[in-house]
Amino acid sequence: MNVTVIGAGLAGSECAWQLAQRGIQVELHEMKPEKMTPAHTTEYFAELCCSNSLRGAGLENAVGLLKEELRRLDSLILQCADATRVEAGGALAVDRHGFARLVTEKVRSHPNITVIPGEVTEIPEGEVIIASGPLTSDALAETLQGLLGEHSDLHFFDAAAPLVSAESVDMEHAWMGSRYDKGTDDYVNCPMNQEEYDAFWKELTTAQEAEVHGFEDSMVFEGCMPVEVMARRGHDTLLYGPLKSRGLDDPRTGRWPYAVVQLRRDNAEGSVYNLVGFQTHLKFPEQRRVFSMIPALRNAEFLRYGVMHRNTFLDSPRLLDRYYRLKKEPRIAFAGQMTGVEGYVESAASGFLVGVETARRLKGQPPVDFPREMAIGALALYISNESVTQFQPMNINFGIIPPLDHFVKGKRNKNAEISQRALAILEEKKADILA
Ligand code: FAD
Repeated sequence: MNVTVIGAGLAGSECAWQLAQRGIQVELHEMKPEKMTPAHTTEYFAELCCSNSLRGAGLENAVGLLKEELRRLDSLILQCADATRVEAGGALAVDRHGFARLVTEKVRSHPNITVIPGEVTEIPEGEVIIASGPLTSDALAETLQGLLGEHSDLHFFDAAAPLVSAESVDMEHAWMGSRYDKGTDDYVNCPMNQEEYDAFWKELTTAQEAEVHGFEDSMVFEGCMPVEVMARRGHDTLLYGPLKSRGLDDPRTGRWPYAVVQLRRDNAEGSVYNLVGFQTHLKFPEQRRVFSMIPALRNAEFLRYGVMHRNTFLDSPRLLDRYYRLKKEPRIAFAGQMTGVEGYVESAASGFLVGVETARRLKGQPPVDFPREMAIGALALYISNESVTQFQPMNINFGIIPPLDHFVKGKRNKNAEISQRALAILEEKKADILA
């Protein structure tokens, strides 16, 4: 029993692993490093191309539940994320390279996985899982367009934030700590007074943007909105968004500053930091000019500038079933961001489900039917819900999971109880899923 998986990103690596763990022989095709996407820079599998955070860890938020489900079901991505975790308050953030290196080592050394280097341009015969991501190479994207017609022609734009070296941050104008002192020294906080913010905002909203073909008439995904686009919505918008100072007591004044830019540790050593919420598509010299107006970043060394890319996804409710299989040709399934799930963990979760269900089908086992009450199931059922007419990429959220049948006071308590319900269902199904 053989399966071809195209793309060794978050979804493809997880999917290949789940298949292989169930005794299926996998041919995993990856075009890096021979051919790079515009946002990937290393040879590693499961490379995180922007933030190093897999977002909230607690069970009162939906992505925390999704991670816990994957963790309990022996997900490769969660196992490697937990092993390379760096401190980030209430979030699960990882050492970017350490994480990707570990995934790569594990996948490459699995006896049932054969890694085949090079770009795939045609869809192979047999069982195929396409997990080539939002930056699928042009040649394969064209082939898919031919196969799927009008339903593949959807896109929006994603941006990545810059990275700076820790030693270049001026700690005379910054301090380490977390919001409301949760966690330890997880973030470097870079304050600005009103005068500094006003000058920064003015330059940010008028700085020169890099040209991105088609961006003028595009959709921008809210979760990855460029900081300059957000700033143009109004003088105070950033003060309620990435620059909010609530809960950040400046040790020199004991007060919350007017604005705070947070830097999050990007590697285990703490030598690289990313600017939280600073996804951008300003021209590189403009990024240096404008972001250096933040006092603590006056002499910052930019290790990588922010970039913006086109992000393609399918009209999945018309095309895919609840196992992410192509309705008109079920030997072909899709996994990851291109199905319209949005985010690292969501991509891994779709790869997990496709891997498990494909292996079961090939082995003659009945499908698991992940229910809507579980985050993994809710995502798959949303993606394949034909009644969704204006399909947009979707992060996991409690809005797509059925509510409780009784009243619980307080949103956090309610969400935590929805998570407990999901985990109880998971425990009942676990032995079957792992079989
Ligand atoms: P990928 O991880 O991109 O993996 C696809 C793999 O397929 C790549 O390794 C690629 O080289 C390979 N490939 C492509 N075409 C071919 C081919 N023809 N033949 C062989 N191999 C091929 N999500 C977040 O949660 N947080 C973020 O901060 C974030 N930032 C993002 C920034 C950008 C610029 C983009 C584009 C997306 C971002 N996302 C973010 C969204 C999404 O979570 C990531 O794109 C995620 O990596 C998607 O996982 P994937 O497995 O679907 O694709």
